Amino acid sequence: MAALLCKFKSGDEVILPSYTFSSTATLILVGGGTPVFVDIRPDTMNIDENKIEAAITEKTRAIFVVHYAGVACEMDKILEIARRHNLKIIEDAAQGVMSTYKDKALGTIGDFGCYSFHETKNYSMGEGGVLIINNPEYNERAEILREKGTNRSKFFRGQIDKYTWVDVGDSYLPSELNAAYLWAQLQRADEINNNRLATWQSYYDAFKNLPCELPKIPSECKHNGHMFYIKLKNLEERTKFIDYMKFYGVGCVFHYVPLHSAPAGKKYCRFHGEDIFTTKESERLLRLPLYYGISNDDLNFVIDTLKKFFV
Ligand SMILES: *Cc1c(COP(=O)(O)O)cnc(C)c1O
Repeated sequence: MAALLCKFKSGDEVILPSYTFSSTATLILVGGGTPVFVDIRPDTMNIDENKIEAAITEKTRAIFVVHYAGVACEMDKILEIARRHNLKIIEDAAQGVMSTYKDKALGTIGDFGCYSFHETKNYSMGEGGVLIINNPEYNERAEILREKGTNRSKFFRGQIDKYTWVDVGDSYLPSELNAAYLWAQLQRADEINNNRLATWQSYYDAFKNLPCELPKIPSECKHNGHMFYIKLKNLEERTKFIDYMKFYGVGCVFHYVPLHSAPAGKKYCRFHGEDIFTTKESERLLRLPLYYGISNDDLNFVIDTLKKFFV
């Protein structure tokens, strides 16, 4: 919806990382916009704020940042670049609900912020999400977009006496049933957040001295325990590690295959500059089991099993 509100047209360029899910890039293509990828930082896996400016051309319209693992991008620098070049900022905060950057909630810093309540996220309604709009001028069109192109929201508020089809749109509304399922979790958001952070910290403390890399949280960021990952030496060691954990009944998953190497990425996008870290780091990263209410037994089993791999 954020991309649709920006009304990208043929030739418009949007800067984003290639290390993300297709959701971040795919709607840029509607209307003919071009996703332009820049490299990530190896420490946070977020877009490298120092490589954005070189990718800006007179066609650039926006920067899509992704707060990977609920850890914020370097937003002060990115806001400053956007202001100087008159660009919109859209925050993909799919993983960032309850996280902050300098005490500001992720998703509320740029022009638009997007949360996901997909089943893999910290708070889930099965499928669904939230669009946060910082400039109220966009509210009216957003309501129309999510209501199949109709002004039904105005009708529900009693502002018009019948509703009609006025613009493009789609069906972006969650059902009441899904919303109720989510609401119960939001009422206990702190409890869920604290539980995830405690699991995250247990992993971190247990693995501090092992020969694998652990996530880095910059001092201005508070994260939400969305994910705990380790980085192995390379693809070969990671494959060995996955098989080893699987043998003991522990499922570990990785993501993302960088978008610029996907079929649609090759066809519609370009990578500005050199891919120094995107592919290399994505091949090393592995996620450990982390979910609300994981039992101490299970957590300790994962920790002990993992440690034995490195002896
Ligand atoms: C999960 C996720 C998405 C997609 O969210 P949906 O609700 O499935 O559209 C987008 N970006 C990132 C970084 C994600 O982790």
